[in-house]
Amino acid sequence: MATFKELGLEDNLLQAITDMGFETPSDVQEKTIPILLERETDIVSLAQTGTGKTAAFGFPMLQKIQIESRTTQGLILSPTRELCLQITKELESYGKHKKGLNVVAIYGGASITDQARQIKKGAQIIVATPGRMKDMIGRGMIDISKIEYCVLDEADEMLNMGFYEDITEILSHSPKDKSTWLFSATMPKDVAKIAKKFMHSPVEITVGSRNVGTENVSHEYYLVNARDRYLALKRLADANPDIFSVVFCRTKRDTQKVAEKLIEDGYNAAAIHGDLSQNQRDLVMKSFRTRQIQMLVATDVAARGIDVDDITHVINYQLPDEIETYTHRSGRTGRAGKSGVSMVIVSKSELRKIKSIEKIIQRSFTKKEVPSGMEICETQLFHLANSIKNTEVNHEIDPYLPNINEVLEGFSKEELIKKVFSVEFTRFYNYYKNEKDLNSAVGDTSVGNSEDSVRYFINIGGRDDFNWMSLKDFLKDLLNLGQDDVFRVDVKDSFSFFNTDKKHQDLVMNIFNDFKLDGRNISVEISKDGRKKGGGRSGGRSGGKGRGKGNRGGKSFDGGGSKFKGKSRRRSERPSGKGTGGKRRRRN
Ligand code: ADP
Ligand code: MG
Repeated sequence: MATFKELGLEDNLLQAITDMGFETPSDVQEKTIPILLERETDIVSLAQTGTGKTAAFGFPMLQKIQIESRTTQGLILSPTRELCLQITKELESYGKHKKGLNVVAIYGGASITDQARQIKKGAQIIVATPGRMKDMIGRGMIDISKIEYCVLDEADEMLNMGFYEDITEILSHSPKDKSTWLFSATMPKDVAKIAKKFMHSPVEITVGSRNVGTENVSHEYYLVNARDRYLALKRLADANPDIFSVVFCRTKRDTQKVAEKLIEDGYNAAAIHGDLSQNQRDLVMKSFRTRQIQMLVATDVAARGIDVDDITHVINYQLPDEIETYTHRSGRTGRAGKSGVSMVIVSKSELRKIKSIEKIIQRSFTKKEVPSGMEICETQLFHLANSIKNTEVNHEIDPYLPNINEVLEGFSKEELIKKVFSVEFTRFYNYYKNEKDLNSAVGDTSVGNSEDSVRYFINIGGRDDFNWMSLKDFLKDLLNLGQDDVFRVDVKDSFSFFNTDKKHQDLVMNIFNDFKLDGRNISVEISKDGRKKGGGRSGGRSGGKGRGKGNRGGKSFDGGGSKFKGKSRRRSERPSGKGTGGKRRRRN
């Protein structure tokens, strides 16, 4: 194994490497860095997520640019704002002993004039998302006519996000004789195409197995109502007592919230995301590696650093925005020759994403039922039986045995087994006996007020440029609630409806007690006649005019109740003509 010095890196970079605590180069760094340092060449470098590709192009670029010059010499295109910021930060720490280095991040959703001002100061390296980059070139705010190095980082994800045209446009403003370095975790046809179009006889490097859907991973999905996501997650955990898993959420906030709820509910869980300090992240990773944490709730970006081999389950609590990211997620399990399961908790509106993912991974998903409470009790009992069987007797208890035996005198072996198992069974039974069947919740048309949720009327709608998604976002941000806490958003022209759990009712009513949007009074009322009705009408103020496009609860399914009995009955959803779906069956 080579050292960083042997790869040909200069002293100031070696110093930074020591500061950061990197000891040896990763495979992709060992193979890529010497080539990029020695020659001016194009390169295609394929390696799994989390293998250190940023440093593989970052160090050579830093060593090769003229630091005295203020001309932009290096451009790095990367798919998302988060990655842009992450790469910028990494490059700044790699180059911290390079006086005068200026790396600028360019991405959408932030002030373009501020970014232009930073560029004006002279940035040797620009890290950009394609959309904003193209925009700024078009406005003459950025000049890339003198760049010598262009990196296409996470090329597969950029193409998946539809940046092909933007990339083409951007590169048309760059010199022909620059070097292009392409980095990717996967090599779908589109990436091969881009390599062919933009590169001249590139050196090709592949490290280990790229993360294509590995043979060892099976893919499952669980169809539930969006607001039952968390309950479904708990059941999946309870049904797999030895679970050692990464649970993926889309945002830092959801990540934090889900982890907190799990901890509150007694699971060995923790969150890992970008708002934690490096120190906190290291601690979490240490507890995960030593199995003190069974469920690590993570954002996609934070999960990039996870290098643990024995993960049994990847749980997609929410699907990623870009479906290619699914490959990276599921690639966290089924490593080192072990088998793994990638589970997706999915709501009906996201079902088509499953199809798109199947195309990418070229494997099919199995639709599974969220286990019933009884199945979970059964699993837990067998788990207990096996752990009793496998437990080594601790002889420290010997002195107490005579007294214990005295207490339990008169019970037969059978009776004792029943009692021991009842301890565990009763715990789960009590929790699950009143829980509903989560699978039947799909297509549940009880859009009105029910025991646990409240439907509201709000006097803004399509006329104010809202659709159900933007209104949902608006409400959840305003109320500071999570992704699934505002649901059944139904936007009409001049008004809309939405639901929250009953527990959020005071919050909603307080916030809208005196609320103005662009100077206009916004009022929210509890939708009076929005109570459950057969046929799933949202009722309320729509005045029976039928449902707009925003209606996502139109079709109704009545799953028929599965009984809380030994073997749970597998159900099939059957459409019921008249929509009796409002009657959600409860167990027991
Ligand atoms: P990739 O782009 O391949 O997904 P990254 O470049 O984001 O991976 O690196 C993943 C993590 O590994 C980062 O936190 C980075 O700081 C760290 N890292 C990179 N190279 C090394 C190394 N040689 N030794 C230790 N950690 C490293
Ligand atoms: Mg990367």
